[in-house]
Amino acid sequence: TSSDELSTSASGKGIENVVIIGSGPAGFTAAIYAARANLKPVVFEGYQVGGVPGGQLMITTEVENFPGFPDGITGPDLMDRIRQQAERWGAELFQEDVEFIDVRKSPFTVQSNERKVKCHSLIYATGATAKRLKLPREDEFWSRGISACAICDGASPLFKGQILAVVGGGDTATEEALYLTKYARHVHLLVRRDQLRASKAMQDRVFNNPNITVHFNTETVDVVSNTKGQMSGILVRKVDSREESVLEVKGLFYGIGHSPNSRLLEGQVALDSSGYVLAEEGSARTSVQGVFAAGDVQDHEWRQAITAAGSGCIAALSVERYLVSNN
Ligand code: FAD
Repeated sequence: TSSDELSTSASGKGIENVVIIGSGPAGFTAAIYAARANLKPVVFEGYQVGGVPGGQLMITTEVENFPGFPDGITGPDLMDRIRQQAERWGAELFQEDVEFIDVRKSPFTVQSNERKVKCHSLIYATGATAKRLKLPREDEFWSRGISACAICDGASPLFKGQILAVVGGGDTATEEALYLTKYARHVHLLVRRDQLRASKAMQDRVFNNPNITVHFNTETVDVVSNTKGQMSGILVRKVDSREESVLEVKGLFYGIGHSPNSRLLEGQVALDSSGYVLAEEGSARTSVQGVFAAGDVQDHEWRQAITAAGSGCIAALSVERYLVSNN
């Protein structure tokens, strides 16, 4: 579709108050607050995670740490409820990926393959993606032995009391390894280089923990399974000698970092050196007036559903203030 053929606004009513991009806990929470403030938010949900709206929680099973669900809730169930709440208050949802944004002049332009929307303010909540190793059997064991979040999955029955491995040598990996020692019988930390990149304090904690064994110069090659098809170990290879061996573990955690989904803002809004949107704590404001960021796309530290939801709330309240003071 050429840009001229696109509908000029979501509702056909000219310039929208606020467009929200993303359908994870951050985007939908922002939508709930903006809708309740009568701002009639337009949400581009996207379907970049697992081909469906709802964000990262759509690809997990139990969520045990979101307040309000004492018995836990599945990720898709939780997201479905939050989505319904946004819809109930009148958020207008489009299951479309945004392909282009222009925030260099106001009103801003947000464009998908199906529509072009002008808006006075924008909440950018496109999340982040855990980097993967791309092991040959990774898809087969994703969420069935492989995880990218120790805080989310470490206490699950699949991993509790087991011997586990963590891949990576930076702060994320060392934090994951230390966290997992609360539940695991033992943790192997697999580091490709001959040293850790983590801070000195984290290194000391790792080296002083008898429940962590650090394997330097070690590459992770693939998952090994037993006759029942369960993960029984991982094939590792020494970087120098190329010697391969099997490490018996029941779980593999990736601690090799995340990539924020900030591509559309590149060159328009200030990002940090890893591509995270620089948003002011407590206001969600970015370097461009009227553009706010929420959730994992601006958070390289906490990355939890509840913190994402919290920042979505802050972004929507900030938008409300911004629109009032600019009218
Ligand atoms: P996301 O959930 O990543 O959502 C981003 C959204 O933006 C997606 O809907 C995506 O489709 C959309 N999007 C991206 N680009 C575009 C575009 N161009 N146009 C339109 N839409 C776009 N946290 C917990 O608190 N507890 C847990 O138990 C837990 N378990 C987890 C298990 C797994 C396997 C993973 C991967 C994460 C888990 N997390 C958990 C972390 C949690 O999911 C994230 O912190 C949270 O989802 C971040 O929310 P968000 O709204 O910032 O982004």
